[in-house]
Amino acid sequence: DGAETLLEVNNIEVIYNHVILVLKGVSLNVPKGGITALLGGNGAGKTTTLKAISNLLHSERGEVTKGSIHYRGERVQDLNPSDLVERGVIQVMEGRHCFEHLTVEENLLTGSYTRKDGRAAIDADLEKVYTYFPRLKERRKSQAGYTSGGEQQMTAIGRALMSKPETILLDEPSMGLAPQLVEEIFGIVKDLNEKEGVSFLLAEQNTNVALRFAHYGYILESGRVVMDGPAADLRENPDVKEFYLGVG
Ligand code: ATP
Repeated sequence: DGAETLLEVNNIEVIYNHVILVLKGVSLNVPKGGITALLGGNGAGKTTTLKAISNLLHSERGEVTKGSIHYRGERVQDLNPSDLVERGVIQVMEGRHCFEHLTVEENLLTGSYTRKDGRAAIDADLEKVYTYFPRLKERRKSQAGYTSGGEQQMTAIGRALMSKPETILLDEPSMGLAPQLVEEIFGIVKDLNEKEGVSFLLAEQNTNVALRFAHYGYILESGRVVMDGPAADLRENPDVKEFYLGVG
């Protein structure tokens, strides 16, 4: 359809340590208002793609050696991660990454550090995060390190929301969580997408759940996009069924 493209990744190549070619020409688009899934097995290059977009590869000795990344038409490859946050793009890292010694609420507030709209607006958004994640409100005074894996994932997403993002890059939200919690978290992602208009690029190994909630999917294998299409089509595709959905 005619939705505006927010993020445009065009034929990027990523090399680690000057020699290890991990992305071999990846292209993808994230439209405004969509949930876009980036699928593929362990080591396919999902995390590398997200880190390339948010410019987090340098600390891992990785670099984009070819191709381009644009957000709202602006080349963003040479920005640092906080510049990107100011433009409305934030990454929620794999493995949740809470500040374990801070409370849940303090974790959430760290997400608002780039904002310049003052305490009242920040407090209003904190309340909004709690309406999407009622569990976090109950746990707000708890030290994040002592909350459950699901609560830490919620805290990580909630903290990202506190930057008022237009687009969230969400890495493997289902990792290590029981199926019921995975459903709960994807349900909240869907709500945030529909009610707050947040766009998502979601990296997931759990193809089944991702294709139920996403609108469009890209399948990565060994650093290349091997298939892409509307989620409903991918769910019905015989190869996707056989290799990714576990049914023949
Ligand atoms: P996962 O689900 O394991 O995160 P993924 O699809 O996200 O898988 P990546 O983490 O992007 O995959 O890894 C892609 C490939 O790049 C893997 O072969 C991995 O071993 C390699 N790789 C990742 N980080 C580095 C690094 N810092 N240095 C060298 N190779 C790396």
